[in-house]
Amino acid sequence: MATAVTTPKLTTTFIYKRLPISLPISSHFLSLPKTLASPSLSYVQSHHHHRQHHQRRHFSVRAESENGAETARQYDFDLFTIGAGSGGVRASRFASNFGASVAVCELPFSTISSETTGGVGGTCVLRGCVPKKLMVYASKFSHEFDESNGFGWKYEVEPQHDWSTLIANKNAELQRLTGIYKNILKNANVTLLEGRGKIVDPHTVDVDGKLYTARHILISVGGRPFIPDIPGSEHAIDSDAALDLPSKPKKIAIIGGGYIALEFAGIFNGLTSDVHVFIRQKKVLRGFDEEIRDFVAEQMSVRGIEFHTEESPEAILKSADGSLSLKTNKGTVEGFSHIMFATGRRPNTKNLGLEKVGVKMSKNGAIQVDEYSCTSVPSIWAVGDVTDRINLTPVALMEGGALAKTLFQDEPTKPDYSRAVPSAVFCQPPIGQVGLSEEQAIQEYGDIDVFTANFRPLKATLSGLPDRVFMKLIVCAKTNKVLGLHMCGEDAPEIVQVSTSIKML
Ligand SMILES: Cc1cc2nc3c(=O)[nH]c(=O)nc-3n(C[C@H](O)[C@H](O)[C@H](O)COP(=O)(O)OP(=O)(O)OC[C@H]3O[C@@H](n4cnc5c(N)ncnc54)[C@H](O)[C@@H]3O)c2cc1C
Repeated sequence: MATAVTTPKLTTTFIYKRLPISLPISSHFLSLPKTLASPSLSYVQSHHHHRQHHQRRHFSVRAESENGAETARQYDFDLFTIGAGSGGVRASRFASNFGASVAVCELPFSTISSETTGGVGGTCVLRGCVPKKLMVYASKFSHEFDESNGFGWKYEVEPQHDWSTLIANKNAELQRLTGIYKNILKNANVTLLEGRGKIVDPHTVDVDGKLYTARHILISVGGRPFIPDIPGSEHAIDSDAALDLPSKPKKIAIIGGGYIALEFAGIFNGLTSDVHVFIRQKKVLRGFDEEIRDFVAEQMSVRGIEFHTEESPEAILKSADGSLSLKTNKGTVEGFSHIMFATGRRPNTKNLGLEKVGVKMSKNGAIQVDEYSCTSVPSIWAVGDVTDRINLTPVALMEGGALAKTLFQDEPTKPDYSRAVPSAVFCQPPIGQVGLSEEQAIQEYGDIDVFTANFRPLKATLSGLPDRVFMKLIVCAKTNKVLGLHMCGEDAPEIVQVSTSIKML
């Protein structure tokens, strides 16, 4: 661990360590574990798709023969997309721009998703990236108020937060965004149908009882939060509900140590709830760089979040006064107004007719696809979270765009995962990272150089708060190429995003 630089400094002291460990250079450069599927910074990132000349597959919508032995079948649409989230909207819009006739069906709007509710825009826009980030902005003010005193700001009374204003303004913004997404589809000449899509046969989709045929069907139904079945789980909330609570939690238990759990812990802590995080393992953020994992937990604890490590929930009990207790393998913590599960998401593949038509799924219900996003049924394709590859918005967008090219531009295109996907965790302080962790870099490259800095930012000198910043750069000792960049501290996501415009290996 790098030595702490406690005095105010304008320049950063980099601690340098060389790790002369020679291990076999093994797998692929971007062997990001699933836990790295964290909020990405790469909205503005463009992905290059290389033509696969050597293994060219032909997919065309104009393949109808006029007088051949096979009579060309007429379809209502060239492409029928089920689910208008990030991946579905991107694929539909691009396909239509390439000349295909396209329809997309989506469930009616609601802030909470279910088998019967959703909304154009999908998880990222309505129940993920966007509302979450708005809540993060709301929550950051309390820290800023604390910081401001040292800079001379005085408040006659403590600033008060009005929960209902925040939720009303956030929901108005979601309405505006879902409207924008509907317009995007309309302007691209995509037919939007409201209703639940279900596959009837390899070329037919049922939308609430009406049948539509299509040459190709795209499944982009995403996933939904999953609450484990423990006694009392009906009293728990998930991330959908946590983004739309009628009142601020007084004391909340958040179960899970992944990025969503930490982001919500920061949100509720900033909005002055009493926050307890329960994690099954010793550390938060499995798969992230070890030093980052330690640093972020330490900084979040300093801000008042209580971590309960190696504690698994066993039951939720509701007492007569309505408060909740969480029973774990280590004991019972009482007095919660809310208990939130952030322990994972499941693909929305139930009751979709997939088993009947022979679309293969893995154990967790994710649709299995080949490198072109084709399922085991040649006319049925799948992109985004439903395939459980890298569950991030920019990745769903990339997969959707690649599929439209494959199907309708006569250009078979594989989604390109070969470049490091930069990602951020919008906890407080936030994390920005790209490339390999130190542990992965050692595994893959053996000899690496690691530069770290752990310092007190200038702002903290006057604010008097115990905020710190941690940075880490991992370099291949042999080639001097940057393998990984990790940062936790104010503006880390933005800083890492800018840095990644410098081409990595
Ligand atoms: C709390 C949270 C925060 C997140 N933050 C980030 C972030 O900061 N950055 C990031 O990159 N990613 C983030 N993600 C992940 C991101 O939201 C997803 O990776 C992305 O939305 C996946 O897009 P998709 O198209 O696969 O699915 P979705 O966006 O989920 O879209 C699927 C759509 O299909 C609809 N649907 C489902 N079943 C049917 C049916 N039978 N018929 C018709 N429609 C149907 C659903 O209603 C939904 O609108 C976050 C997720 C969550 C939950």
